[in-house]
Amino acid sequence: MPTDSATRGQQALRSANRALLLSVLREGPASRAALARATRLSSTTVSSLVAELAGAGVVEVGDGAAGTGAGRTGRPGRLVRLAPDRGVVMGLDLSYDGVRGAVGDLDHRVLAEAERLFPRLPEADEEDLGPLGGLVAEVVAEAVAAAGVPVERLARVVVGVPGVVDPLTASAVSTRAPWWSGVTVSKVIGEALGRELPVSVENDADLLTVGEAQHGAARGMGDVLGLDASSGVGLGLLLDGRLHRGFRGGAGEIGHVQVVEGGGFCVCGNRGCLETVASLDHVLGELRPVHGERAGTREDLERLVSSGDRAAVRAVSDAGALIGKVVADACTLLAPQAVVVSGSLAAGGPVLCEAVRTAVARHTTPRSGHPVQVLQNSLGDRAVVLGALALAAEDATTS
Ligand SMILES: [Zn+2]
Repeated sequence: MPTDSATRGQQALRSANRALLLSVLREGPASRAALARATRLSSTTVSSLVAELAGAGVVEVGDGAAGTGAGRTGRPGRLVRLAPDRGVVMGLDLSYDGVRGAVGDLDHRVLAEAERLFPRLPEADEEDLGPLGGLVAEVVAEAVAAAGVPVERLARVVVGVPGVVDPLTASAVSTRAPWWSGVTVSKVIGEALGRELPVSVENDADLLTVGEAQHGAARGMGDVLGLDASSGVGLGLLLDGRLHRGFRGGAGEIGHVQVVEGGGFCVCGNRGCLETVASLDHVLGELRPVHGERAGTREDLERLVSSGDRAAVRAVSDAGALIGKVVADACTLLAPQAVVVSGSLAAGGPVLCEAVRTAVARHTTPRSGHPVQVLQNSLGDRAVVLGALALAAEDATTS
């Protein structure tokens, strides 16, 4: 009788083998024998995986006549190919400032995007979604229609929320966006779609990291730390190509690393957390004596930084130095290929990224020939929704 961890290990191996096989099929149709050669898997494993994927409608096995076996000698191998109608997936970002949605296919092509932004944050004590539920429905309907696919072909939805997510219950257990807490996200999505389908909920910094690694600044990299420096400060951990969420979520919440002994109280109830001295709210508070109400929102900060305002640049740079020191420790622990710098504090110019880069260089020991690259994000506000889409495509083909 295998133990739980042995079972998980076998599932992970099978999942990796499935992903490998699908990556070969993306190059074009192939016989089982060719698949075994290309993947170096045994012919038994390949046959079993092909049967499983065919059963799930992900691949098709052509009959003899359908193959391009002309010129072959001996028994022609039947060709395995990706099914043309194997469904589409959706990513959603339920953010501080709005709802973003994207529809894509299982080959990571983005087919359509839609968004509805909030002019102002909704009331924090809102008990149900109210108009927000309507916005989710609008975004879903618009993205699906723009992609030109019937809703029935949606195979899976991945939703990003700003908060700690428990992967077992797929719910946000702690969030700075209180209007989403306590909401059964899968129910809202089901109502918006008019049908039930697999919905998973993920932390926004995690998805941002996947998005930048799939489509953005860290394209093609498998070991990436994605920094989201906004009202909260989080680090998404993409390690060896897989998200590291931690036991029941919460990995990478560096905003609550204690950096000031006996410092001010944090929303988490502790004192001296990184977020109390380096976050959007803190920076805006620092700028109040200089700019008053002209520095009240993230857009104000972006405008001030991009215009080179002396105080704004200094405040963001100082926050970057503090955040960068904690990121440097994470780099020492995890040895990533790159750090991608994102979030409201990174908007308006490279000030935050440069401060983090300096701090990482100062506080890490360079591994010869493998310095950590500290990169400015390239997807902006689309990173979370594109990461959600990428993860949905991955889940739909490998689970
Ligand atoms: Zn805290």
